[in-house]
Order: sequence, then structure tokens, then C-alpha cells
Amino acid sequence: MFIEPSITKEQNGWIEVICGSMFSGKTEELIRRLRRVQFANQQMEVFKPSIDVRYDEQEIVSHNKNAIISTPIDSAQQILLLTQADTQVVGIDEAQFLDIELAAVCEELSNRGIRVIVAGLDMDFTGKPFGAMPSLLAKADYVTKLHAICTQCGNLATYSYRFSAEESTVLLGEKDAYEPRCRSCFVKGKELPPQPVKCEETKETPSDDLAQ
Ligand SMILES: [Zn+2]
Repeated sequence: MFIEPSITKEQNGWIEVICGSMFSGKTEELIRRLRRVQFANQQMEVFKPSIDVRYDEQEIVSHNKNAIISTPIDSAQQILLLTQADTQVVGIDEAQFLDIELAAVCEELSNRGIRVIVAGLDMDFTGKPFGAMPSLLAKADYVTKLHAICTQCGNLATYSYRFSAEESTVLLGEKDAYEPRCRSCFVKGKELPPQPVKCEETKETPSDDLAQ
């Protein structure tokens, strides 16, 4: 369980990154933290890349339909423009789809005293670091790496294995195209038959218990 650092005097900014594979519960963890910010009546802004329109254009929605209102953006720089002077907390979902400027933008926000909470895939379906995520992870004050459960063997999964023939690198979370796999099953690749995550059976990992 991530525990926010206590703030007793003037507010200091920092960067929190929630990363992991698909189906690891990243968005749910982001929403959990943002809900607590809402309960505390802190001023927050929530953003997500406009490219991510899987479920809803304005809401951050996790696989289990938990939702929070967000602003779609096309570039990381827009976050700076759209963040108000009195904003205390900035949330960003699906950060891997934003441009490489995101790390510098988050640094700028945190230097202003803002708490920045970022969720995103740390690796793409080939196992390579994804977009601005590696830079963000380096600059982050706090990192939470969540795990899914390997659909092949039941071990903890850190990879998002893609078994569709689609060539596009940005293939969003279609449940019939991806499955979470552990390192061993990811390396075996096509040797193993697809075990798609079924929509109604999707259970986001009770991540905090397993991840830390
Ligand atoms: Zn496995």
C-alpha cells in the first residue's frame, strides 16, 4: 500500500509513478489516490491522452468501470497550460501514450509544489521501455510497480503480450489482443496458445498486496 508522505508545513511537490503491465490495476490505483484527494477537497486536475478513447472521451475509466473526470490532451505541454495556479494535485493516466516531454513537464509541476501522480505502462508489447515512462521513473520520487497475473501459469506478470497480427504499435487495451504474461511465458511467445483476458472475468490485481 502506498502511503502519501505527510505534509505538515507548506506544500512540497513530488512525482509518483504507478507502472506495470496491462491488467495490473494501474488506473484503479490512480483513481484510488485521486478519490482521496477529492475527499480532502484539494484542487486537482486530471489528464489523459486524447488517443485513449477506449471507453469514454472525458473520463478515466478502469477495466471495472471505476471512473473519474479527466481532460483529454494531445501533448504533454498542454498539461502546463491547463493547470491552474491553485492546482495542488495533477493526475495523468496512460502516460506512455504522451510525448517524451512529459518527464520535463512533470518535473516543472512538482517544482512548483504540485503533487503529480502518473500511471502508465512501463513496457510496450515487445518488452521495451514505453515512451516517456523510463525518464519519468528516473525522476520520480515514489514508484509503485504493479503486477498482473500471468494467464498462462498464474505467476506474477510484468509483460503485456500481444497475440494479434495487428502491426500498429498503438493498439489500445483490447482484451482479445493482449494478455499479461510472466517473464518465462513472455519469452516463449507463440509457443503458448493465447489465453485472452475475458471482459467479464477481468479482475484487476489486488495490486498493493502483491506488489509490495
Ligand atoms: Zn507465466
